[in-house]
Amino acid sequence: MAIAGCGVAGLACASLLRARGVRVVLFDKLEKPAPIGSGLILQPVGLHVLDVLGVGDRMRALGAPIERLYGKSGRHVVLDVRYDALGADAPRGLSVHRGALFQVLYDATLAAGAEIESGRDVVGASGGRLSFSDGTKSARFDLVIDALGMRSPLSTQPKQNLAYGALWASLDSVGDFDPAALEQRYEAARKMAGVMPIGVLRREEQQKVAFFWSVRHDRRDAWRTAPIDAWKDDVRALWPATEQLLAQIASHDDLVFAAYAHRTLSSPLARDCVHVGDSWHCTSPQLGQGANMALLDAYALAWALDRQSDLDMALGEYERLRLWHIRLYQAASWLFTPAYQSDSAAIAWLRDRLVAPLSRVPPGPQVLAALVAGQWGWPLAAMRG
Ligand SMILES: Cc1cc2nc3c(=O)[nH]c(=O)nc-3n(C[C@H](O)[C@H](O)[C@H](O)COP(=O)(O)OP(=O)(O)OC[C@H]3O[C@@H](n4cnc5c(N)ncnc54)[C@H](O)[C@@H]3O)c2cc1C
Repeated sequence: MAIAGCGVAGLACASLLRARGVRVVLFDKLEKPAPIGSGLILQPVGLHVLDVLGVGDRMRALGAPIERLYGKSGRHVVLDVRYDALGADAPRGLSVHRGALFQVLYDATLAAGAEIESGRDVVGASGGRLSFSDGTKSARFDLVIDALGMRSPLSTQPKQNLAYGALWASLDSVGDFDPAALEQRYEAARKMAGVMPIGVLRREEQQKVAFFWSVRHDRRDAWRTAPIDAWKDDVRALWPATEQLLAQIASHDDLVFAAYAHRTLSSPLARDCVHVGDSWHCTSPQLGQGANMALLDAYALAWALDRQSDLDMALGEYERLRLWHIRLYQAASWLFTPAYQSDSAAIAWLRDRLVAPLSRVPPGPQVLAALVAGQWGWPLAAMRG
């Protein structure tokens, strides 16, 4: 099988399929596949897939356990989701450096015996072959798996770019932040700063945090041309405790802009490929689910291929295993994103004065904890054993 893309979905697919004896070849446009970005939270459902792959404990040794997500707008606490709302022993999230997750999955993929072809810029797929931007084509495969992420050229439906993205940086963990919380500060929904522990890339390193700052796409150039100190003043005014983190940022180049987009294909099954991860469903990272969804997709596809001898039936089962969970979370993300990143004063007002207080009334805390933990719709229920 051909897997296009060496990201979270592609690498997890490759390892899981190799474990079932399938010959897989991965293709990535990068000369040396590498992660882009700072950190992300692995939810209990995603960690379950890493455990199946046998790399969960290695990941836990590098990541930072997360107990809660906490956010304030002025004096209003507008986000307070605690995993222990689901029970004292309920599994927690694990915040990780993107590079650490990539390395753990990459090593597992190589150890499992997958072949990797790098420097291969995929532009199309047809008749079991991938075509590349240099005009060449791959050999013919039984199945082409599209794990090319949110800009996949194999995804037929255009993505909808969201007005807001964010600037990200991985910084040394200094300052007065809860080491077990993702914290955010907002001004309405126009401004947002976040600090999230992400553990380490290698064991002996100093603990890191991901710092992020919401920016409108169309104001990115204005941000870049303004002095960096003017931006720092803005951040400090919103959240004075970030002072020591800001001291580690010397120029605009120390921050990477991540654009966010939304797209949900009605089915992961296309004529010439099957989609996994962001190529099927991308969204803003407000709910922190994208990598988990990618891991679940990979798990479900490998599970279905293992249980059905007929390829079409296996793909049909893959779709059934994932469709409703994907639709539920894409809808939830669509609904929640404007509350944290938009120009609407009305939505922010409702968030602060109505939704946040209501969410503290049972069963609000349990419902939100289950949402964040990736457990709405019980995505693993049909894949146990
Ligand atoms: C800033 C940010 C924060 C996030 N935070 C979280 C979080 O807290 N929790 C969470 O679960 N998710 C989070 N996400 C989402 C998560 O990162 C993605 O959902 C996840 O990485 C998707 O995995 P993927 O394998 O589908 O795509 P990707 O990880 O994007 O991998 C795609 C791969 O395909 C390769 N590729 C792309 N185009 C081509 C081409 N034409 N030819 C060949 N190769 C190509 C790329 O080099 C890459 O290796 C966040 C995303 C962003 C941007």
